[in-house]
Amino acid sequence: MAARLLDGKGIAKQIQGEIKAEVSEFVEKSGMTPCLAAVLVGDDPASQVYVRNKERACERVGVTSQLHRLSADTTEADLLALIEQLNGDSSVHGVLVQLPLPSHIAETKILDAVHPLKDVDSFHPENVGLVVQGRPRFLPCTPHGVVQILHRCGIEISGKHAVVVGRSEIVGKPLANMLVQRSSNLGPAAANATVTVCHSRTANLPVITRQADILIAAIGQAKFITADMIKPGATVIDVGINRTDDGLVGDVDFEAALEVAGAITPVPGGVGPLTIAMLLWNTLAAARMQS
Ligand code: NDP
Repeated sequence: MAARLLDGKGIAKQIQGEIKAEVSEFVEKSGMTPCLAAVLVGDDPASQVYVRNKERACERVGVTSQLHRLSADTTEADLLALIEQLNGDSSVHGVLVQLPLPSHIAETKILDAVHPLKDVDSFHPENVGLVVQGRPRFLPCTPHGVVQILHRCGIEISGKHAVVVGRSEIVGKPLANMLVQRSSNLGPAAANATVTVCHSRTANLPVITRQADILIAAIGQAKFITADMIKPGATVIDVGINRTDDGLVGDVDFEAALEVAGAITPVPGGVGPLTIAMLLWNTLAAARMQS
């Protein structure tokens, strides 16, 4: 039997509708319009698409957006100066630096410079620490999107074995940290997983992934998770976005996985749209904190 499709696109639309209503209420009460400033360095084509999509999404929910474009040869000092300026600008509530940055710029130094109250990506060590301690200020966007999909599709996380393949600072690690907490912003049913984190040095990976009730792939390799790595009936969340000759594909061999999994996110139309929705969520939260 084919797996149930988890419609990330539809859920993202629903969340954006909720945010739009909340933004309008916030503007009415506070007289302030939430504003997100994006910084784009260089001309990486994928980054340009991401930033454009973020701008459009802001527009849809009534959030103001700014785009600061810098050339690929911008110095670290100039980029830091721009971030300082945005940190001090009271009309800007969220600051996001589109990654990747050119190799002559130290990514950590730049991300650490964003004011923690404007850090809508939740990359600042203070915000990462708060997530780890179970008292988040901002939830990281892609992991939060994954939890929202599971919750809104009625898939309980509590007590389940969640296997996260990938340990990046952006997806794998923060997601594992969120799933293992005693509770979440969506209540205890959307937390309390038993979590295993796998990576490129994990031995016997298929043996571990086959134990997952919830299998999350955040690897960055097209169709890496094959049907024999999935426990029959498991929920499979595919975070991967890989550009191939066949178009965009995830980290899961989707067609084959459909026959084994109980539920699965497609690529595109799965986790991707949620990431932007949760960025808008954080921008509204940032504006509230600064009002
Ligand atoms: P990274 O490259 O930063 O991390 C990939 C992780 O996968 C690493 O921890 C790596 O292990 C692990 N890995 C690589 N090869 C293997 C392997 N053979 N076996 C087991 N583990 C392996 O990627 P990101 O986390 O940033 O992104 C992952 C994917 O998600 C990408 O396709 C990216 O495009 C997509 N993405 C999608 C988003 C969305 O909105 N849907 C947002 C962000 C990312 P090790 O640490 O040992 O190197």
